[in-house]
Amino acid sequence: MQKRVYIETYGCQMNEHDSERMLRLLEGISYFETKEPKEADLILINTCSVREKPEHKVYSALGRFKRLKGENDTIIGVAGCVAQQEGERLLDRIPYLDMVIGTQAIPVLPELVQKVEAFGQRICEVGFDLSGGYLKTSLPRGPLAKVKSYVTIMQGCDHFCSFCIVPYVRGRERSRPSDEIIEEVKRLAEMGVKEVCLLGQNVNGYGKGLAGELDFSQLLERINAVEGIERIRFTTSHPKDLSEELIQAYSRLSKLCEHIHLPFQSGSNKILNAMHRGYTRESYLEKIDHLRERCPSIALTADVMVGFPCEEEEDFRQTLDLIEKVRFDDLFSFKYSPRKGTRAAQFEDRVEERGKQDRLCILQEIQKRITFQKNQALVGFVEEILVEGQSRQGDRDITGRTRSNKIVNFEGGLSLVGKLVRVQVTKAYPHSLRGDIPGVELACFQECLVCRSG
Ligand code: SAM
Ligand code: SF4
Repeated sequence: MQKRVYIETYGCQMNEHDSERMLRLLEGISYFETKEPKEADLILINTCSVREKPEHKVYSALGRFKRLKGENDTIIGVAGCVAQQEGERLLDRIPYLDMVIGTQAIPVLPELVQKVEAFGQRICEVGFDLSGGYLKTSLPRGPLAKVKSYVTIMQGCDHFCSFCIVPYVRGRERSRPSDEIIEEVKRLAEMGVKEVCLLGQNVNGYGKGLAGELDFSQLLERINAVEGIERIRFTTSHPKDLSEELIQAYSRLSKLCEHIHLPFQSGSNKILNAMHRGYTRESYLEKIDHLRERCPSIALTADVMVGFPCEEEEDFRQTLDLIEKVRFDDLFSFKYSPRKGTRAAQFEDRVEERGKQDRLCILQEIQKRITFQKNQALVGFVEEILVEGQSRQGDRDITGRTRSNKIVNFEGGLSLVGKLVRVQVTKAYPHSLRGDIPGVELACFQECLVCRSG
């Protein structure tokens, strides 16, 4: 009998990808996805605990689903970082919760669900799997209706930045064997995927601890050779591990997209030191210069935090100064949020909430201006776009991204989905671009489609 599963996902791409993996695995025991919680036999909340706000969302989501438990006897589970962090405490706190699924328990999810179904047992599975088997991805059986796919290449982190909960909830750094990764990329290409995004907390540390394994730039080279894959991206990189080989890969590998997400967190050496980041503002800026020398068109994005303990006005000014110097294409900016169990949670001299909020607003205003200017600078240029699907802007519009990862909306048919097309940028918005397929090329596409249908 077919059943329905609803998954609510919070947090990073890693979580989005884990949710997809859970859906694939659950198909094996006849659970199929629904977007409606009230239709679901099983509700899973895939959680994030990197900051306080997403962590709180878990409890409000559980509150919303409580009624469904009463009405339909729905099975309810919490997965991801909050599950790993809280373990049994979650079962104690939420009496109607059936399952707590740790970050490395995804492969056994179907068995856990079957146990709950058969015995009504409440389950908590938060052990760390040292074999690394939890990294294996299960691919859908049929064709994939997608042009882009994530591929996990490693999990966990050994850096222990003083603010960060990740090493505690995702475990130590573990890389997946490269043969397994290449095999998965080849299968994705056969299913029609054109772009892969390699995922890990610190992808440029790939291969450490696996004897005889490729390093990250060698892995990229192997993926670059996979037929059918047109574009390669990766996230996230740590500035400390950004090697010369990786920088050179941008000028060598034709499918590697000209974009890097390189979180800097702060522009002040005093704060970087307290964060235990392992680099200085000077060495970060040097790496940026070097990247731009090798690949002048590279787009740069980063994560930055304000209000870390002891951050004074001068430290914040240095963060703004670094932003103005680099001129990032975009930034993800956060207020520091103390995380229980991390070293920084014990630091004194906390910045008041009001002060953090004010700094965040100032920083975001500056970045908004730079992002818009960067978008405006593309007007008139022709960009290669990988068409992803219908645009939310209107029925006649389709959408895709430039190699530098900027969203472009333009008029065109859905037959172009999965194709690389050249689009002239005609207008810039704060978070996207508008464009047109140049007349001659549009005519050519139309002809190609006619030829093919004939
Ligand atoms: N591995 C990546 C790196 O080294 O930069 C970051 C991964 S972390 C999940 C994503 C981002 O969340 C970080 O870059 C940081 O800006 C932010 N973050 C992590 N812990 C935080 C905290 N305690 N408070 C606020 N932001 C935090
Ligand atoms: Fe967290 Fe630092 Fe590891 Fe990134 S490198 S996941 S910020 S501990």
